[in-house]
Amino acid sequence: MKGYGPVDAMEYPRFSGIRTFMRLPYVQDLAGVDFAVIGAPFDTGATYRVGARFGPEGIRAASVLLRPYHPSQDINIFDHLSGVDYGDFSVVPGYLPESHTKIEAGMRPLLEAGVTPIVLGGDHSVTLPQLRAVAAKFGPVALIQFDSHGDLWDEYFGGKDTHGTPFRRAVEEGLLDTGRSSQIGLRGPLYEPDDLQMSRDLGFQLFTADDVRQAGLDQVIAAVKDRAGAGPCFMTFDIDFVDPTFAPATGTPEVGGFNAWESQALLRGLRDVNFVAFDLVEVSPPYDTAGQTTCLLAANLVYEFIALLALTRRANG
Ligand code: MN
Ligand code: MN
Repeated sequence: MKGYGPVDAMEYPRFSGIRTFMRLPYVQDLAGVDFAVIGAPFDTGATYRVGARFGPEGIRAASVLLRPYHPSQDINIFDHLSGVDYGDFSVVPGYLPESHTKIEAGMRPLLEAGVTPIVLGGDHSVTLPQLRAVAAKFGPVALIQFDSHGDLWDEYFGGKDTHGTPFRRAVEEGLLDTGRSSQIGLRGPLYEPDDLQMSRDLGFQLFTADDVRQAGLDQVIAAVKDRAGAGPCFMTFDIDFVDPTFAPATGTPEVGGFNAWESQALLRGLRDVNFVAFDLVEVSPPYDTAGQTTCLLAANLVYEFIALLALTRRANG
């Protein structure tokens, strides 16, 4: 093991111990840390059903089954990465701007220490303050967004800050290089015929859910990677990209989505992209089935992020 890694499951069974992500140590000293998993338990940016404040807790509880060797990517993650659970960002329930300020401030020491943050939402509004911190360090970044929604509305109920508006704000603030960015998986009923065109008009490469079905996974992966190029890239995965059959526990479910394997395969294909930060948002455990169906999938998708990071680290020596 390179540094910090999971508890030895042959010594301490998976159901034992304190629930951190992947049974990583809870550490807030960033020396010798390559990646940190952090919760952003804020959900009052949601416009329909809330509950994602319990996302970090639920994903952590389901993550105890993750194991260090990733067979599809043929990599033993902790030979290449030292990872910790950093705990949660402080937030103010019901107060979005204050919470965003705290999340952005919480991101900065991680980025300054050269640690790759992996944030567990929270609703999708929590991505905006992360992007502010990331862009302050790296300049405008590429966004790879898996989501059944574009989250590009100008406002909701007259409010500029919701989980439906973060990427419009990010574009306005110059945080994104939309010429290198992609939105993947959009579907569901809309308000106006132009609602999808908004993504293209702002410069994103857009693959609706229908487009993905038509093109096939490999072609989508190739186009997203080609678009992202070699520059810094932010991965944001809204769990509602996945069909509600597989991920019912989310704030704004849309049918006709992707299954668990398709979601894993799309992420696995994004090897060699220069990811500088990741998040997975909109998991709302109160709506979960069979205890933790959605949380288990979410934990496994975060595991794909970590494997991508390990592959990059191995390739760069
Ligand atoms: Mn979203
Ligand atoms: Mn969504």
